[in-house]
Amino acid sequence: MNMPLAPYACDPAKSRGRRFAQAPAPTRTEYQRDRDRIVHSTAFRRLVYKTQVFLNHEGDLFRTRLTHSLEVAQLGRSVARTLGLNEDLVEAIALAHDVGHTPFGHAGQDALNDCMANFGGFEHNLQSLRVVDHLEERYPEFDGLNLTFETREGILKHCPRRQAEALERDEPGGVGRRFLDRQQPSLEAQLCNLADEIAYNAHDIDDGVRSGLLTLEQLQEVALFDQYRLQTLAEFPQLADAHQGRRLLYESIRRMLSSQVYDVIAATRAALEAARPHDVQAVRGMAPLVQFGPVMREQSRTLKAFLLQQLYRHPQVVHTTGQAQVVVQELFAAYLRCHNEMPQRYQHRILQAGGALAGHEGDAPGVAARVVADYIAGMTDRFALREHERLTGKRLLT
Ligand code: MG
Repeated sequence: MNMPLAPYACDPAKSRGRRFAQAPAPTRTEYQRDRDRIVHSTAFRRLVYKTQVFLNHEGDLFRTRLTHSLEVAQLGRSVARTLGLNEDLVEAIALAHDVGHTPFGHAGQDALNDCMANFGGFEHNLQSLRVVDHLEERYPEFDGLNLTFETREGILKHCPRRQAEALERDEPGGVGRRFLDRQQPSLEAQLCNLADEIAYNAHDIDDGVRSGLLTLEQLQEVALFDQYRLQTLAEFPQLADAHQGRRLLYESIRRMLSSQVYDVIAATRAALEAARPHDVQAVRGMAPLVQFGPVMREQSRTLKAFLLQQLYRHPQVVHTTGQAQVVVQELFAAYLRCHNEMPQRYQHRILQAGGALAGHEGDAPGVAARVVADYIAGMTDRFALREHERLTGKRLLT
């Protein structure tokens, strides 16, 4: 049964609204409408062919950015329901939170950030906001998806000060503001942030073991996982059989996920009872309230450190990410050298900005670089590889 919306939840009837005013929808709340716009966007569909940790073509069973986003939405919604937060807003933020990711996961993002070093850098959270605010071309009257303030606030998880100042100039009192005022976002946004962490910690164990890069033996050093493996074995001794490894893995992960969810619910409830925010505006002025308890926070930190060392820095993962970086760097150089290699609408953006910048020659290279970065960031893994082969004649990662 649904909890009634708590006073500190985001209420769609009190939304701070959209950048371009639109009449309300007859049958949907403003956050349901945001969620639907995200599901129908091009950037969302592309998540199916974007890497989470393993490259998209390495196996059909590994998480992609799409399935990751669905898992974040599922975890987030079930916590939101229990705490009386707005499930629709949580779902909208969760489904959109990774739309700004480049192909090839963090390797792609790091490479693109290096390429953009002299032009303001590249950061995937800011890019997710750029996608929903500017890059989606679906409406006759405006660029982007014209989402509500609350969804956009949740998408912009981090923001360096310089970029926050730029956002503030463009939209005074808008989504950049909280980074200047050192405020928090809504509880729904805070929840998505933590649900993201819970989701990837669990699914990276799963994908790591199924890829053969991690073993159940190695995982015994991770207390958070091993206590549930031992608990499962105590209840189902037959799972000690080597043929039952998968069931043991899934049951241990399921228990670990549940315990993290219950921990967040208990710790956040206690924090809400202590802080008693009367509405979302009060939430924004307080310390973060959606949280793990101290023991789980430490255990989760240890698990993250383990995954970094044993999985993300595994020689096989490092080898593929090294190649992915070459693909991104060479694509960037090729498009910057020859704008005509990009589709016409990207060339057009460079020409248009060039006209507007006449007399400010210094800014023109920055505009071209940003357009190239937007084009590359939008690519799926496989499209980036095909383009790289077309432009350089080299076949990497295939
Ligand atoms: Mg994520």
